[in-house]
Amino acid sequence: MKALVYTAPNQVVHRDEPDPAAGPGEVLIRVEAVGICGSDMHAFHGHDPRRVPPLILGHELAGEILAGPGKGRRVTVNPIIACGRCEYCVQGRDNLCANRTMIGMQRPGGFAERVVTAASAVIDLPEGMDVRAAALTEPAATALHALALASRALARPVPECSVLVIGGGAIGLLAALLLRTWGARRILLAETNALRREAARRASAVEAFDPLAGGGPAEGAMDLVVDAVGAAPTRKAALAAVKPGGVVLHIGLQDRASEIDMRKLTLAEVTLIGAYTYSTADLRAAARALHEGAFGDLAWVEDRPLAEGARAFDDLHHGRSAAAKILLRP
Ligand SMILES: [Zn+2]
Ligand SMILES: [Zn+2]
Repeated sequence: MKALVYTAPNQVVHRDEPDPAAGPGEVLIRVEAVGICGSDMHAFHGHDPRRVPPLILGHELAGEILAGPGKGRRVTVNPIIACGRCEYCVQGRDNLCANRTMIGMQRPGGFAERVVTAASAVIDLPEGMDVRAAALTEPAATALHALALASRALARPVPECSVLVIGGGAIGLLAALLLRTWGARRILLAETNALRREAARRASAVEAFDPLAGGGPAEGAMDLVVDAVGAAPTRKAALAAVKPGGVVLHIGLQDRASEIDMRKLTLAEVTLIGAYTYSTADLRAAARALHEGAFGDLAWVEDRPLAEGARAFDDLHHGRSAAAKILLRP
């Protein structure tokens, strides 16, 4: 089969790879569409020690089961393969599974014509769901999971809250779109790339601004701040922008360490929440929400052939794409 293989830092190659076969308890999936994630870009840059080349990256996929339980069904997958037995799995928090593995990390991923995963990781799609929407299930579930955690910590319901989202990549944009559907009172989006700012304005009718140009909210003005970048300056900006008693939701993973203003956190009783991926329940809810239009028309998503994947990585690397999500089609 053809696959897009990460062979060395800053290099992905479209080439022939051995055909995968499903073992016991596994399914073989024909990939119809697979999204390029920020974490794939991070690996591509050689910054993820967990993703070692040569490796087929990609974990945001939708397709059809060719072999194994559920043959013929159209599905997406939970890229995290959880053990089902540890303390966290038993609580339904499979994203924290102590024994988890992931496709596109420890196992070959979805930038390929076919992929094998555990039958237990399969998520059924709503009848007739569009494949482009289906391939967005994973990032949408990330946004949904994070906002569900934040909404439990907010003092007032979301429709009464002003929200700053930092970062107009897929997770930031999907979070803004869901917040709009949930009726947030005001949504600001900070994004430094002008192409993405424009795309976000069109897609979500949020107030998108350039944080480097000095726009944005006053200090201590926002009930909720979503950091979908996770860099040292965005963490600082998030904590500065949040109101006393407000919530900072941290999803991005760009910088490992940075200083946090623990004095403000303490004196202003700010709640700081880390959010990582999703549970199976979040993935099912996200697929349903996407199918029902809770994330809008998704016109901002771009499709390209898998064979041109190297170009897509390069365009994302150089900030030449306005699309917050590029899907590859094998
Ligand atoms: Zn992803
Ligand atoms: Zn587990």
